[in-house]
Amino acid sequence: MPKRFHKTPCAGKTAPEKRFAGKLALITGANRGIGLAIARGLAREGCDLIITGRDSRSLASAGRELGEFGVDVLAQVCDVRDPNSVDYLFVLVRGLRRPLDFLINNAGIGHSNRRVTELPYPMWAEVIDTNLNGMFLVTQAALAVMKKGSTIVNNLSIAAERVFPGSAAYNASKHGALGFTDTLREELRPKGIRVVALMPGATDTAIWKTLWPKAPRRKMMSAETVAGVVVNALLVPDGSALEKIVIMPADGAL
Ligand code: NDP
Repeated sequence: MPKRFHKTPCAGKTAPEKRFAGKLALITGANRGIGLAIARGLAREGCDLIITGRDSRSLASAGRELGEFGVDVLAQVCDVRDPNSVDYLFVLVRGLRRPLDFLINNAGIGHSNRRVTELPYPMWAEVIDTNLNGMFLVTQAALAVMKKGSTIVNNLSIAAERVFPGSAAYNASKHGALGFTDTLREELRPKGIRVVALMPGATDTAIWKTLWPKAPRRKMMSAETVAGVVVNALLVPDGSALEKIVIMPADGAL
């Protein structure tokens, strides 16, 4: 005899509980792309946000949009390469008088496809400065306002473990950022602060305009897919930790 499914009586029309209500997250590079998608995912769950980027117009627009979720949003221009800019951001963060529950180090850039012999030093330096030095500056400042139970997610890339010819500065910045992330995890383990290495494969965002303008976008993941995984990683209960997340398009590396 086939099994019957019984409907559970409905407990009324109360809205589902917001799982990050009362929490505060800082996301760098959240005016577009993966950072904005993560910000939306967290805001949907009631998380208050500090979002940054260099472009003030898109940042203000992202701030307004995120505010519609009913959360508090501080949208502050900050160039992660610039210690003074990061210092000023954290003057404002400390002014909130709240600990930071989540730090999402996401800001990053790519560079056009060039062999090492044709890679100008300023291009090399800008990528290392943004993807590696910027992550260090923001993390060091953030640790002063993070407590036991908080989580840092560093958006690296599959390029943190494998290499793509023509992307030496990007590969090197992400390999370096993985070394930083792994060290940070061990240093913060006794303090109860979790550190997650996020390693997405190709994701359909503006970064591809510089990395590979004609890359096949239809094969890529959406920023929302990556964001959904991050939101779930932040929900892992105390007592366990996701340390490394690798997520790739079904076709693998492009
Ligand atoms: P986008 O170009 O869409 O987003 C990059 C973000 O970083 C923007 O918000 C940008 O804002 C910000 N940013 C860049 N430079 C700086 C800076 N100096 N200071 C502050 N913010 C900065 O690309 P993605 O969303 O794809 O990139 C986000 C992260 O994801 C990067 O670290 C990237 O390496 C990583 N990643 C991306 C993958 C992909 O396939 N798309 C795959 C794996 C990892 P603004 O320009 O206004 O400063």
